[in-house]
Amino acid sequence: MSDFSRRVEAIDISGIRKVFEAASEDAINLGLGQPDFPTPEHARQGAIDAIEAGQADGYTSNKGTASLRAAIAEKHGRDNAFTASPEDVIATSGGSEALHLAIEAHVDEGEEVLFPDPGFVSYDALTKLAGGTPVGLPLRDDLTLDPATVEEYITEDTAAFIVNSPANPTGAVSPPEDMREFARIAAEHDVLCISDEVYEHIVFEGEHRSPRAYDDAGNVVVVNACSKTYSMTGWRLGWVTGDSERVERMLRVHQYAQACASAPAQYAAEAALTGPQDPVDEMVAAFEERRDVLLDGLEDMGLDVPTPKGAFYAMPEVPDGWVDAVLDRGVVVVPGGAFGERGEGYARISYATSMENIEAAIEAMREATAAVR
Ligand code: PLP
Repeated sequence: MSDFSRRVEAIDISGIRKVFEAASEDAINLGLGQPDFPTPEHARQGAIDAIEAGQADGYTSNKGTASLRAAIAEKHGRDNAFTASPEDVIATSGGSEALHLAIEAHVDEGEEVLFPDPGFVSYDALTKLAGGTPVGLPLRDDLTLDPATVEEYITEDTAAFIVNSPANPTGAVSPPEDMREFARIAAEHDVLCISDEVYEHIVFEGEHRSPRAYDDAGNVVVVNACSKTYSMTGWRLGWVTGDSERVERMLRVHQYAQACASAPAQYAAEAALTGPQDPVDEMVAAFEERRDVLLDGLEDMGLDVPTPKGAFYAMPEVPDGWVDAVLDRGVVVVPGGAFGERGEGYARISYATSMENIEAAIEAMREATAAVR
């Protein structure tokens, strides 16, 4: 058999998937990064209507339908206090493809990409696939990324840094003043800031601000998706927006790798974005209730856990052998090391599951904690 590329040999299947494979079928899964709610009815209907009208059979424009891009542009004005022209939006196959476009279009061989460690698994892998050098950044005690750390790690080889708030795997939410600082740093050091905002609506304390709202230099690119906000992970619909020239470069990659995002998903996304937003509020309220129960449980068993202010993950520090001891008791959580070397000694617990599962999982964790201490 002929050789594989050096770039693909540099990456591995995600550590998260390995945990799932080790779990039995009837395990309680607190490892999943997706909401356990149905996609809102009006979003589904948007796709159904488009399919029935024969509108979703063909390619759309590479960037996506004009009406979806208009809905996304309007959403940014409404929710994020920045103006995006519909021309400067590319609908993508989930936030994953949006991250891929942002990194591929901006990172040269050997250039560095800085991102939170622990951080979302794709940052490291996509950087390597682009031939770049991943650089994980240490976090504050509350697991937020300190702008001063970003500034400290920037070198002449840095092409980009990634900000993710609310964050996977930590649930940390960066305050508005930090988001302003990230935009300033991108401008002053003339590097790209990729802001991954896929959890923007899942905030319990504090508020989400986009660094793009402070971006006078055109050095912030925003990645977002319907996946988490509207419980649409299976639809594969996200987007990327930023300065026109950057969008044109990202479109070059998108055009050849993807042509366009799935047409039915684009119609569902448009309906999700323009329709009633109550399903989002209801989901966020449920996540907050579950978070509180989980936090009480973890604190009660003596684990140290920074209060997650958003997303649907908690990241306690755990004793050696804890993740396996929990797995032995039928509950799946992800070892923190799957998210970067500084995640070692932590575990990511997703509470995007029923309260019943959370309560049963707490009991298993309590036993596991007692067993490994
Ligand atoms: N960014 C973060 C921080 C995520 O946690 C995820 C998914 O888990 C993504 C991006 C990718 O989302 P999507 O399912 O839209 O590709």
